Amino acid sequence: MLVLDGKIASAAVKASLLEQTTALKAAGKRTPHLAAILVGTNGASETYVASKVKNCEETGFGSSLYRFEDTVSEAALLAQIEVLNQDTNVDGILVQLPLPKHIDDAKVIEAIDPKKDVDGFHPANVGRLVQGLNTFIPATPYGVMLMLAHFNIETKGKRAVVIGRSNIVGRPMSILLSAEHPQGNCTVTCCHRYTPKEDLIDLCSKADIIVVAVGIPDFVDASMIKPGAVIIDVGITRVIDPTAAKGFRIKGDVNYASAITVASAVTPVPGGVGLMTIAGLLKNTMKAYQGL
Ligand code: NAD
Repeated sequence: MLVLDGKIASAAVKASLLEQTTALKAAGKRTPHLAAILVGTNGASETYVASKVKNCEETGFGSSLYRFEDTVSEAALLAQIEVLNQDTNVDGILVQLPLPKHIDDAKVIEAIDPKKDVDGFHPANVGRLVQGLNTFIPATPYGVMLMLAHFNIETKGKRAVVIGRSNIVGRPMSILLSAEHPQGNCTVTCCHRYTPKEDLIDLCSKADIIVVAVGIPDFVDASMIKPGAVIIDVGITRVIDPTAAKGFRIKGDVNYASAITVASAVTPVPGGVGLMTIAGLLKNTMKAYQGL
């Protein structure tokens, strides 16, 4: 059983980016710069943004963090995005989701210059993704593709099941796995909350690759997995645990202990796809710097 270790795969991506930024600095040039916008004090969002900023620094990128109270008006947020759109020293703009209910996520995403949209959520970039054109691939599915590439997982002609159809994970993931791409060319079935459980079990038990992004701990276990299948666990749920130092533990959507008894390769949580998401974001920021 192969552990698809995000620490190893993301370190390889980051090392290559660090080489590029070191060469840029040696040539007296500026390096890629990521601007992150964080609204409110959601614990998980704070952790994600802090980690993204820290990884930028480790990779020789510039970064800046713009913090707003959760009472910020939509107009103020849009105005900040416009300032960053115009700033020629900013290559990538990231707005950490979710946003407070009074702010329209779609409006905010569409306000970002598509050439700086390193999360790949702008409809113009999603359209390019669907058509197989050069674009920013949303960071988490991109991270999964980088993980598959790093560990030489064969995907061509395989049956893949993607569980979840969100705009940020499941939907782009299912498009990428079915695309003409070295980590694509799968026959993909995309399941969601209205997929009857018996269909889901049947489809999963025939799948060579399962990518699960539902946010329900232990949603997939050995009973649904075909022997030798590759299991990619995107889920991240904070489960209260008074014995843990932070008062909670991070759980994936896969029962890891059970899955490793039948699968040929599994991503751990934590230490799997989460780290690859950051690698995907950094690669997108370098791409924005180089010009999409
Ligand atoms: P979401 O809530 O937007 O989407 C969940 C999806 O699961 C929906 O499409 C829904 O139809 C599907 N679903 C729900 N119940 C189901 C069921 N019983 N059977 C089949 N499908 C079902 O969530 P999201 O933003 O896509 O995130 C999913 C999970 O991935 C969450 O745990 C989130 O925290 C995690 N996540 C991790 C990363 C990472 O970097 N590892 C990045 C983004 C999201």
